[in-house]
Amino acid sequence: MSAQQPYSFFHSVERSFDKAAKFTHWDLGILEQIKACNSVYQMRFPVKRDDGSIEVIEAYRVQHSHHKTPCKGGIRFSDEVNQDEVMALASLMTYKCAIVNVPFGGGKGGIKINPRKYSVYELEKITRRYTSELVKKNFIGPGIDVPAPDYGTGSREMAWIVDTYSSLKPGEIDSAGCVTGKPLTQGGVRGRTEATGMGVFFGIREVCNMPEVMAKQGLSLGIEGKTIVVQGLGNVGYHCAKFFREHGAIVVGLAEYEGAIYNANGLNEEEVVQHRKATGSILNFPGATNLAKNTDALELQCDILIPAALENVINGENAPRVKAKIIGEAANGPCTPEADDVFAQKGILCVPDMYLNAGGVTVSYFEWLKNLSHVRYGRMEKRFTENMNTHILSQMEELSSKKVSEKERTFIMHGPEEVDLVHSGLEETMISATREIMQIWQDNPEIPDMRTAAYVSAINKVANSYAELGIFP
Ligand code: GLU
Repeated sequence: MSAQQPYSFFHSVERSFDKAAKFTHWDLGILEQIKACNSVYQMRFPVKRDDGSIEVIEAYRVQHSHHKTPCKGGIRFSDEVNQDEVMALASLMTYKCAIVNVPFGGGKGGIKINPRKYSVYELEKITRRYTSELVKKNFIGPGIDVPAPDYGTGSREMAWIVDTYSSLKPGEIDSAGCVTGKPLTQGGVRGRTEATGMGVFFGIREVCNMPEVMAKQGLSLGIEGKTIVVQGLGNVGYHCAKFFREHGAIVVGLAEYEGAIYNANGLNEEEVVQHRKATGSILNFPGATNLAKNTDALELQCDILIPAALENVINGENAPRVKAKIIGEAANGPCTPEADDVFAQKGILCVPDMYLNAGGVTVSYFEWLKNLSHVRYGRMEKRFTENMNTHILSQMEELSSKKVSEKERTFIMHGPEEVDLVHSGLEETMISATREIMQIWQDNPEIPDMRTAAYVSAINKVANSYAELGIFP
């Protein structure tokens, strides 16, 4: 809470929910049940630091909804972690999974530490201890609650989690499915690392391919030539910038903790990351102009602004200065409800987090399915498809007496690898979700913004799944 935002993050999710609930037909009691966080586990445990001192660590796991199980959602390591934040993020996971038809309830975990201030050995001890606390209380398991990476965590932490879980549950055949976002060697799936950034790209590309939406925003159709600003160059921001650039957009601004940089001719995210590695900062990147504060990037002139870091960065105070025509929420909760009101007045289209950044959890779902089926995607059909394609191609060449080029031959014959199937499943998911939400918005012209339309979709799906169980009439 702050002067700019006189209520908490969880309350802001509740406000957005209530705004949307008016456009549904469910009883108040049902809506209250959907909104509430079912289980909140707050823990404290000691860790011995490398210097011999003992520190008490504060950590959480929240299961927002059990309308589908397991619960699903990342674990973040951050100084800012608190119960309210984890509850808000767990709720967003419920709505996110519902929108993209991923059959999980929402969950989220957090450990209140700044990972930069701990050695790798200390981080491993903390992660393993956290996992064993979750096991003790039955808060983790392939059919119970499945964590994943989030802000400040990655595949390394997920490897520690699966290793700790498996050693505490010997013989549990599906134990690899207790966490997702794992390294490939520990049961991960190809395509998980880039999934969230790629999902953001697919979602925004679909919006940019809608003629009536682009006409309203005063933009041309398609991604090519659009100017983009990305705030945050972590895994999500980096991959967003990469996919937009590779598809012909111009990434004019990038921001990180230390500041922001601008170049009207475009920035290459990989070169910027290398420059940051070498110098410790994105500032002074050759050919770019430095901006004093990282938040200045949010106010740059551009077509699409992608906040890809933390929550509440665009609020009632700075929203009036945002110049982008489209905002793509790659982070969770980057814009407050006050910012939404400003966007509605200014005609800025905000494509909401709770579905736009669902690429991560969608591919987590694919990873979990892989773990439960104990077989790599593509293993059964790759060779069969290639043989079939070879046969079809040779018949066509024979009948037409013409040969296709070598490049075309390689493309046509190619049988699907795991990464192809994962990317294609993700693309389908993001396109369908975008169309579904836009349809709800179109069918109900009183709905003020796309976030509200997305919440309507989520509320209806969660409520329906309770109704199908016979819990609600
Ligand atoms: N932490 C990511 C999110 O907020 C991924 C969650 C998951 O894969 O379970 O969506």
